[in-house]
Amino acid sequence: MMILLLALLVAQGGPSNPGWSFDVHHDHAWGACHGSLIVSESGIRLETSEPDHAREWSWADIQLFEIVSSTEIRIHSYESHGAFGLWRDRQFRIEITGGAALDEALYRFARERSPRPIRTRMVFDAPAGPRPDAGRTLQEIPARHDHALGGCEGTLRIAVDEIAYIAEDPNDSRVWRLDDLASFASTDPFDLRLSTRDDTFHFDLKLPLTEAAYAHIWRSVYRPGLQSYRGALP
Ligand SMILES: [Zn+2]
Ligand SMILES: [Zn+2]
Repeated sequence: MMILLLALLVAQGGPSNPGWSFDVHHDHAWGACHGSLIVSESGIRLETSEPDHAREWSWADIQLFEIVSSTEIRIHSYESHGAFGLWRDRQFRIEITGGAALDEALYRFARERSPRPIRTRMVFDAPAGPRPDAGRTLQEIPARHDHALGGCEGTLRIAVDEIAYIAEDPNDSRVWRLDDLASFASTDPFDLRLSTRDDTFHFDLKLPLTEAAYAHIWRSVYRPGLQSYRGALP
């Protein structure tokens, strides 16, 4: 037993402590500075050729960690952007030019470390979580995402632990962990609205949402305490 525990400890936090080092451009309104972005257990560090832009954030210092694409990360900080930024919270747009790969492992890592939900527009293929059936898909529905004007088309993939919207235009794709949803609504089986703390997505479904998928989302969002690792699934 002891040996097994030790083996687990080593496997989880031991010598192979995960960390990523990306070569990056930090985009400015005019031009960019260069450096590295280091993601680790303790947080994220931006080392740049422009000393004023170097930063070190703990995970708690990051208001929103956003994966925009395989080559772009955005860090929404709590820092105020003075005068000309009209005191908006400062965002760091970081373009990845080399180094580590921005992959699913990084997404899972950030998701576990960040005290707040993270946002990803990249849809990773095989979600793996503590639940053996974490990535199991309950339903896939062709859908239209409503924009203020018009919309975009794609597929909603409702899985046991997350919902992915895979848009025809990859820039519009998005993944929500069910735990991260603040609310959802479905006025009829062809309608679905998903809301997080900071935004809402509304979909017209081209095929009806199944009762099983609806019940699963409902339980996950409103009664997460009742979700068990076994049973309880449609
Ligand atoms: Zn810079
Ligand atoms: Zn859209």
